[in-house]
Amino acid sequence: MALLVQKFGGTAVADPERIRAVAEYVAGCLRRGDAIVMVVSAMGKETDELIRTAQEVSETKPGREMDMLITAGERKACALMCMALADRGVEAVSFTGSQAGFITDTTHTNAKILEVRADRVRTAIEAGKVPVVGGAQGVSTENDVTFLGRGGSDTTAVALAEFLGADICELYTDVSGVFTTDPRIVPEARKIPRLSFDELLEMTATGCPKPAMRSVEYAHNHGVDLHVRSAFTWEQGTLVTEEDPEMEQAIIRAVTSDRSEAKVTVSGVPDRPGIAAKLFRALADRGVNVDMIVQNVSDHGVTDISFTVPHEDLDRATEVMEAYRDEVGAKDVSSDPRIGRVSLIGAGMKSHPGVAATMFEVLAANGINIEMISTSSIRTSCVVQEEDVDRAVEELHRAFELDES
Ligand code: ADP
Ligand code: ASP
Ligand code: MG
Repeated sequence: MALLVQKFGGTAVADPERIRAVAEYVAGCLRRGDAIVMVVSAMGKETDELIRTAQEVSETKPGREMDMLITAGERKACALMCMALADRGVEAVSFTGSQAGFITDTTHTNAKILEVRADRVRTAIEAGKVPVVGGAQGVSTENDVTFLGRGGSDTTAVALAEFLGADICELYTDVSGVFTTDPRIVPEARKIPRLSFDELLEMTATGCPKPAMRSVEYAHNHGVDLHVRSAFTWEQGTLVTEEDPEMEQAIIRAVTSDRSEAKVTVSGVPDRPGIAAKLFRALADRGVNVDMIVQNVSDHGVTDISFTVPHEDLDRATEVMEAYRDEVGAKDVSSDPRIGRVSLIGAGMKSHPGVAATMFEVLAANGINIEMISTSSIRTSCVVQEEDVDRAVEELHRAFELDES
């Protein structure tokens, strides 16, 4: 008998028919003798709709009330799931994040889990029941309801799996696993049967939305194996574990893309010790999350520094840079929100020369200009104009032979 945590994403429980299909599947797993803990997301696009309604009602949108509102979506889905299970003779009990023992900090709309005290969930399993836990929610140290942020249900599932010592954490979604690239951009993308945490972390950090990045970090830090799979075909999906010697080392495992960042350039910066320190300290103090940083070779004692920031931090970043322009004696501050990043990920690139060269050749052959480059030992990324992103993904996916043959 295995103990499984099974998380169902919004599309998996989008309507009554889907809820019944999932309940039927879970009832089947129970008949085979497994013990199951379920985590559910809000139905379909409900989270988006609740946020939209809040925007129509309010300009201030207090965080505490946003969390009360958003978590209602998951609460509804849990109760409905338990009802569908009851029809199938399965004794199921719904739990909000608070009832399930998710203690978080007080950062509303994006709370962090501080501690999991899921004893009630454990007791329910021991009593032969199926606990159904609302995803992406908890209770703060000040006793308020909190939301763990977009995609937070994945983190709920992983944290429960670690607390309960589950055999595996299964994330059921609308695709059959993690793919070699976003199947919406490249229909020829293939499912990756096995993936290491190192590769998946690079993928989620560079734009792959599934599983949510925080959940992958949590799983990696706490040794929880993941199985990303389909709630429609129920076929074997992608198994994510620590790298093991059995795993075939692909040179390139996947191509990812990300349009969530903008580029800021400060030009004519004096090239002397302490300038970069001053600029980036100022950004950090204003809570700006800097990602890629590139500094040019100095020319006559001055240089250019470019970096990328999330779109929502762009105004603040530009403000900070303009405030420091005169102080550090820089010439100009400019920004470009219309950029995107394309990345190649693969553990095999560590020991295989030529990946970067081929990537640049493919982009050049397609007339795509590279604006910034960054690498890690298992990733090569290029910043390009936003309108070139999808084409770059398609061409790289084909050039590195990731297409379905
Ligand atoms: P859920 O709501 O089930 O948690 P999401 O909707 O957040 O799932 O994420 C699943 C979506 O992620 C898929 O529909 C797919 O289009 C998209 N996606 C983008 N890149 C990839 C990739 N490399 N592999 C798998 N899915 C991807
Ligand atoms: N429903 C929430 C969202 O869409 C939480 C989740 O699904 O993980 O972000
Ligand atoms: Mg989701």
